[in-house]
Formats: sequence, C-alpha cells, structure tokens
Amino acid sequence: MGKGYVAMKASAFAYARATSVIDALELLAAHGDKARILSGGQSLMPAMNLRLISPELIVDIGALTELRGITVRDDVLTIGALTRHVDVLKSPTIAAHAPLLADAISHVAHPAIRNRGTVGGSLAHADPASELPACMMALAATIIVRGPHGERGIPAQEFFTGIYETALSPQELLVAIELQVAPTDSVHFFHEFARRRGDYAIVGLAAQATIKAERFADLRLGFFAVGDRPLFAGAARKLVDVAITPAVLSAATFALEKELDPQEDQQATPAMRRHLAKVLLTRCVSTLLSRPDLYAGATA
Ligand SMILES: Cc1cc2nc3c(=O)[nH]c(=O)nc-3n(C[C@H](O)[C@H](O)[C@H](O)COP(=O)(O)OP(=O)(O)OC[C@H]3O[C@@H](n4cnc5c(N)ncnc54)[C@H](O)[C@@H]3O)c2cc1C
Repeated sequence: MGKGYVAMKASAFAYARATSVIDALELLAAHGDKARILSGGQSLMPAMNLRLISPELIVDIGALTELRGITVRDDVLTIGALTRHVDVLKSPTIAAHAPLLADAISHVAHPAIRNRGTVGGSLAHADPASELPACMMALAATIIVRGPHGERGIPAQEFFTGIYETALSPQELLVAIELQVAPTDSVHFFHEFARRRGDYAIVGLAAQATIKAERFADLRLGFFAVGDRPLFAGAARKLVDVAITPAVLSAATFALEKELDPQEDQQATPAMRRHLAKVLLTRCVSTLLSRPDLYAGATA
C-alpha cells in the first residue's frame, strides 16, 4: 500500500450462514455479544470497515426466506425483518395499508442501498437520524423479537433506547414488525430536511392522524434526528380534540421545544434543529387539516 493511504478493512472475523431462525438463535446464544447479525450489510459492513465495531462472528440471515415478506391478516400488517426497503416501496399492500412507510422509504439513501438494506436492519441499527424508527412510532408498531426464551413484542416507543441502541439483547433476533392497518379515514405526513435527497436527515417528522369534523381525533408524531433516539412527541396531545387556532398551535410548538434534545454535528446546531422541528410541526398540522392560514401565521 502506498504512502498516505489508511487501511479501511474490517478486523478478521468468522462467518456463518444461518440455515434457519433456530440455527441463528443457537449461534447467537453460543457467541453472545461477540456475534453480529448480517442482514443487508448496508450499515454493518461500513461500521466494520471503519472499525467502529469488530465482531468475532457474523451470522448471515440473508437466506432465511421465512423472515421476508409483507402480509395482512385480521387487520394486522406484518412485515418480515428481512423485507428490503425496495420491497416496501413497491408493495401494493403497503400503499393500501401503511402509505407513510412508502413515503418515508423514498427518502432512505439511494436505490443501490434500498435494494439491499432491510427494514429489520434499519430498526436494529437504530440510527437516530433514520426514517423508519420514527415511522414505527407514528404507526404504533410492535417490534417482534425472538430469543432463547421465545418470542416477545416490544412497542416501538420502548424499542429505541439510545444512539445505535435498542431493547434487543445480544441473543435476540428481530423477526418482524406488526402494525394495525391504517383506518380508511386516516391521513399521514412525512417530511425531512436534508442537504440532498438520500442524505441522512437534519430533522424529520413522520405523522399519522385521524381527523373528524376538522379536528384531530388522533395524532401521532415521530420526529427523527432531534436527539439520541427517535422522539414520540407528547406535544401532539395539545392538538387532539380541539379547534386548532394559532394560539393552540403555538402552545404545541412550545411543548415540543421542551421535549427536544438535539445534538450538534457537522450538519446543524441544536438551535437550528429546534427551529426546523417546530417548522415541521406547523407544516404538518397545516397540511393535514388543509389550513394554509396556520402555516402563514406561524410564529415557529
Ligand atoms: C451511503 C448510505 C446512506 C444511507 N442513508 C440512509 C438514510 O438516509 N436513512 C436510513 O435510514 N438509512 C440509511 N442508510 C442505512 C441503510 O438504510 C441500511 O440498509 C439500514 O440501516 C440497515 O439495514 P441492513 O439490512 O443493511 O442491516 P445490516 O447492515 O445488515 O445490519 C445493521 C445492524 O443491525 C443488526 N441487525 C440487522 N438485522 C437484524 C435482525 N434481524 N435482528 C437483530 N439485529 C439485526 C446488525 O447486526 C447490525 O448491527 C444508509 C447507508 C449508506 C451506506
């Protein structure tokens, strides 16, 4: 290697191709936190090449077709962990029952990455600037995980515990995501500020709502890139079941500001993130209620 180059290669590791979910779980049980699951590899391989992590064993679950696919039964939409971003984007079932996800995924990276990256991988990776974790909060999803003691469902609101940290134990595999199909009268909003399309967001908002008589009967707000994990904003409660006036909206943006804990990075200062989050809330409410007056008169 010539002078001036830095080796960007992963440390030595062993590789095992899991033949079934049980096989994968046995490998995880035997190796604990020294093993890592490999799904699409779009986050794991860069992290290994940069030596941010150095697992001793990679457990490749890519061949487990039982973990792939999108189904609906009894109003429950199930997305297998290995379902790729591109599959969600193109799925008529998602378009009919959870269109928020398709909107969001069109902002995830670029086609080459969406062709390999998976929904389960994105959630397990838990990047606070990632779109899907916030969507899962807005959609009240349950994350289904399987471990040595069986299966458990974790509400999305409890799943993300910090930067790249989740409620998954090293011996557990994320196997699926379950959501209620969106009621026919529900509406959604998705927007993110990013330097270029496909870049990680500077700040973003995924929202799901039902509107009755021009008021929110329900409003679920999932912000991302505003702290060390996605934020399920309690400020939404200030907007439910009331006539929305500029004063009501202003009280909600004030409440939101108190919930935010944005980080400083190369992309933005905390103050800029706070400002953009409030702009997004205002834009969301104004768009969903078809009330341009609220946006025009916003103080956010
Ligand atoms: C240039 C670039 C731009 C990107 N931009 C974005 C973006 O804008 N938004 C965004 O959200 N993402 C972005 N990504 C990440 C991409 O979406 C990944 O596909 C996704 O984060 C991880 O999915 P994966 O299947 O590739 O997971 P992997 O890389 O295989 O795994 C990621 C992590 O999750 C763990 N894991 C994976 N699957 C499971 C499972 N089933 N159970 C338990 N643990 C598991 C792995 O052990 C690893 O720690 C970008 C990636 C690149 C390279």
